[in-house]
Amino acid sequence: MRIHAAILWEQGKPLSVEAADLGAPGPGEVLVEVKAAGVCHSDLHPARGDWPMKTPVVLGHEGAGIVREIGAGVKSVQCDDHVVFCWAPACGVCAPCREGRAVLCDRLERVTYRNRLPSGASHVHARDQAVAPFLGTACFADFVIVPEEGAIRVSPDVPFDALATVGCAVVTGVGAVTNAAQVTPGSRVAVIGAGGVGLNVVQGAAIAGCEMVIAIDLRPAPLEIAKRFGATHTIAAGEKMADAIRELTAGRGADFVFDTVGNPRTLTDALASARKGGTVVLTGL
Ligand SMILES: [Zn+2]
Ligand SMILES: [Zn+2]
Repeated sequence: MRIHAAILWEQGKPLSVEAADLGAPGPGEVLVEVKAAGVCHSDLHPARGDWPMKTPVVLGHEGAGIVREIGAGVKSVQCDDHVVFCWAPACGVCAPCREGRAVLCDRLERVTYRNRLPSGASHVHARDQAVAPFLGTACFADFVIVPEEGAIRVSPDVPFDALATVGCAVVTGVGAVTNAAQVTPGSRVAVIGAGGVGLNVVQGAAIAGCEMVIAIDLRPAPLEIAKRFGATHTIAAGEKMADAIRELTAGRGADFVFDTVGNPRTLTDALASARKGGTVVLTGL
């Protein structure tokens, strides 16, 4: 079928929105009409050329849509189901999967991180060549083909724009709180960076019943949003960040510090802001 896709032909150049051809879903695959997509920093890195990547590629890895066609053997979804994309679908049989750590699935390195589908199929073609699906998702397009386990059925009464970021920013942020850190109720938490992931760490910490959720960012606007997501305190990032956190925590430092930015400076600040025996979690890259 003919689709429209935002294709990155050359890193550092703008995406080109153009017509492309999309094949049919093979066994275990589903065709999804994309209704909304988020723009994650992990789309910007390859677009700008920060991460070397083979082109052409269709970017986009967080989004939501409606299943329009299913391939042979597909069981978990059917046509007209509303779905959220999961760009890290686990194989379910490798060692990390069997140990219950699907997020570390071995197949991700072999397949997803190389912008391939588990089936190995090349479904998108433009200008007479195959176009790779970024993280096996490629949802900067009006239709995509993803593996069945990369389309998670959700309730049809949730708006697509709210669902769009669930597959990356929300699971990364909330998952860092509930799975990686296993934050306990009453904890004092500091969150460096109030972007898509940081706001969801704030939200996760609020849901987890934290007593204090301190959001830190260079920009005032995200800090205002952080308050709506459950931040009890906000701090403008800068030289005195760790001091400000210690002041708020009676000199102790935070029980959990999340660095959602991930540069040497913020990591240093994160370590300086944690209490003795506290936990620092890195989600930024
Ligand atoms: Zn992402
Ligand atoms: Zn696996």
